[in-house]
Amino acid sequence: MAIESTVQIAPDIWRITLPLPFRLRAVHLYLVRGADGYSLIDAGLDTPTARAAFADALQQLGVQPSQITRLYVTHMHPDHIGMSGRHAQSGARAFIMPDEERRARYVWGNAPLEWAEYLQSHGMPDAAAAGATGAAADLRACVTLPPMFEYLADGDIVPVGDRSARVVWTPGHSDYHYMLVDDAAKLIFAGDHLLPTITPNIGLYPECRPDPLGDYLESLGSFGDEAKYRVLPAHGEPYDELPVRIGQLKAHHDERLAGVRERVVAGGSGGVTSFDVLRHFWGDKLSPHEVRFAIVEIAAHLEYLRLRGALSRESAGAVHRYNST
Ligand SMILES: [Zn+2]
Repeated sequence: MAIESTVQIAPDIWRITLPLPFRLRAVHLYLVRGADGYSLIDAGLDTPTARAAFADALQQLGVQPSQITRLYVTHMHPDHIGMSGRHAQSGARAFIMPDEERRARYVWGNAPLEWAEYLQSHGMPDAAAAGATGAAADLRACVTLPPMFEYLADGDIVPVGDRSARVVWTPGHSDYHYMLVDDAAKLIFAGDHLLPTITPNIGLYPECRPDPLGDYLESLGSFGDEAKYRVLPAHGEPYDELPVRIGQLKAHHDERLAGVRERVVAGGSGGVTSFDVLRHFWGDKLSPHEVRFAIVEIAAHLEYLRLRGALSRESAGAVHRYNST
């Protein structure tokens, strides 16, 4: 099914869909009209194809790039932050949570990405760890950051076009991911926190908060009265019935936690690594890009269980091995 590149969501809201060169295929940006300019939620990946698609969309809508005065970057993943520097260059003020900027500057900057050793510590063979780190570093070509961001804090009320929205900090998928919640219209610009058909990747990285899965589960439905809200996600279609979706997301992680724990128990007294668990679930079918997402996701689940006393960890020879308690 072809994806419509621009869809009107409300009299003042347009969804602009940009292509991605990943299995995810596309990311949605939301453009909101206001008397003093447009607000844009999320930036798109900075590739020539996505830039052209964005320019086409604006042209269709009769909007000049300079009319976009505010850019809200929900989190630092490349499909959300990639083109932020370009939008800023044409005059938008770019907003993010402060610690999310810190991580963006590290991951998308010029310093060596120190993930290989970390992935090895979770049992990934050297070559695969180097490949996965290299695949991530290659994405730096698709991210252009602005010289500066302005900062948002949890609970801030900000203008989104002529609407006003509450900043809701939703850690888990990324440490300082936020959603914009228009309480008057009961509308959530959800970024990747509450996706309708896929579960957002919850990954543990060395430079991140120690318990991303705990963060995620806690921040699911942390803004109250969910049943009344409509969700505008960055991937997939808008949806209602948020409590149902939150239930499904929780059930998914419960099931994955049970599967991970079962695997550790079956592994016996020698203990198992994140990579062992990954191989159990996915075999060797994953690309270097996918293998990285998978191992950090498994590591997040193992650490979640360890931090709650369900598993123990031994780190002999700089490799973490998990045992049942
Ligand atoms: Zn993301």
